[in-house]
Amino acid sequence: MQIFEDINNLQKLLKTLQNKGQTIGFVPTMGALHEGHLSLIEQSTQENDYTVVSIYVNPTQFNNASDLENYPRTLEEDAEKLETVGCDFLFFPNNKTMYPQKTSLFFDFGDLERRMEGAFREGHFNGVALVVSKLFNIVKPNRAYFGQKDWQQYLIIKALKENLFFDLEVIACPIKREVGGLAMSSRNMRLNVAQRKESVALYQALNLAKKMLQEEKASIKRTQVAVNKFLEKFTLVQLEYFEVVNSQNLKPIENIDKSQEVALCMAAYLGEVRLIDNIIFQL
Ligand code: AMP
Repeated sequence: MQIFEDINNLQKLLKTLQNKGQTIGFVPTMGALHEGHLSLIEQSTQENDYTVVSIYVNPTQFNNASDLENYPRTLEEDAEKLETVGCDFLFFPNNKTMYPQKTSLFFDFGDLERRMEGAFREGHFNGVALVVSKLFNIVKPNRAYFGQKDWQQYLIIKALKENLFFDLEVIACPIKREVGGLAMSSRNMRLNVAQRKESVALYQALNLAKKMLQEEKASIKRTQVAVNKFLEKFTLVQLEYFEVVNSQNLKPIENIDKSQEVALCMAAYLGEVRLIDNIIFQL
């Protein structure tokens, strides 16, 4: 695996490969890699001739300074993991490379970002869209891979691609979970033993809600009450939001009698660690 810190050498090499008709898959990450990230990379290596992974903790998408400061940085271990899954090129830029000048560019994705992550993390999707646009222009991949774990982010990247004519395919990959069901996340390594034990409550609550809606045809209101009540039993878990939305436009679902694809999305704090999770299914 070759590691690039600057843009020019990486671009030169990728251009040569693409001129020869080779396809490039791209997996943007913030590092502290786990099996969730590796599954995206494996899919990319299967579907493309070459795979580029970026590791960059993008400051503009953090709305909380201590979250940015405490975000795990584990480059050496990451590079070893990348070798095992056949990543060809690692792009590891610094802030000066990614933001050579102060930018006031601003993205607004309308209704897609008014709820959930967009509502609770002000400016988050502006930072995501900014850095992903930069990365798409640097790497110019044929395909880019994103996790369903950040479902709202995936929809926003799809909107970004469509609005700005990025000539690439945006692909969503399934959520990888720990044995107990906790969605893998770089932030999980900040959980203490007691918090880790209670963190399984998120996925359990999502499954409880899915069962109520799908099998028992419970109302949205009753399901929300049940989820809140279930999570109250876990004293270390502080629910931030639980939403039942249409999986494509993220509008809240009012009528469960209408057949549609639903996303149940959740964010919760365990101490200072903020976790998100979701499940998507047909109503
Ligand atoms: P991050 O490093 O958190 O920015 O994540 C980089 C990419 O990996 C994003 O597209 C995430 O959605 C994806 N990802 C994060 N966690 C998981 C997971 N547990 N399973 C699958 N993909 C994931």
